[in-house]
Amino acid sequence: MKKILSIPCSFRAYTIPFLHNTALFLYHLNMEIIRLENKDNSENNRVLRQKSKPVKNISGEIRKTAQEMLDTMHRDKGVGLAGPQVGLLKRIFVTHAEGDQPRVFIDPSIIWTSQDQVRYEEGCLSIPGVWAHVTRPEKIKIQAWDEKGRAFTLEASGLLARVILHEYDHLEGILFIDRLDTAGRAKVLSKLEKQKKAG
Ligand SMILES: [Zn+2]
Repeated sequence: MKKILSIPCSFRAYTIPFLHNTALFLYHLNMEIIRLENKDNSENNRVLRQKSKPVKNISGEIRKTAQEMLDTMHRDKGVGLAGPQVGLLKRIFVTHAEGDQPRVFIDPSIIWTSQDQVRYEEGCLSIPGVWAHVTRPEKIKIQAWDEKGRAFTLEASGLLARVILHEYDHLEGILFIDRLDTAGRAKVLSKLEKQKKAG
């Protein structure tokens, strides 16, 4: 699934915030994505490995954060981004899977997963340049609130289901490399080590 990092963001996704609030949009560009480091106990790793807390109160502030996260995800050509990846240990993530619309999930619960599982290649904005096949349920049902505080239930399959499960994992402090077998994980870690040496 190399596409997960290479899907071009839509023109609309860039122009709407730009037209509506230039200052806000420029600020959005400053949201930094936290990257996994190949060393124990680094601050970045500590944040990525922590379980996020519920948002509970969906205020204007969280709405702004959701928009910033969508802009950051589009800027870095991702299809999903979760709170911990931008240093926010709150249960919020955004998605924009291919063929789907941008979505915001606040305080989500995965309420059903299919027995059928599929293997697909995944990447992560917090672990750039690393790809691996991960097995996950093919279909899911999720309950969450959107940025306006409206509750919704969504049934998803294919790429959207995968992105949702990947982002949901981030809220639990789980990274996709944790779902690999020992050999797969060792391969990923050696790649991270090489990247570190290359500077
Ligand atoms: Zn990720």
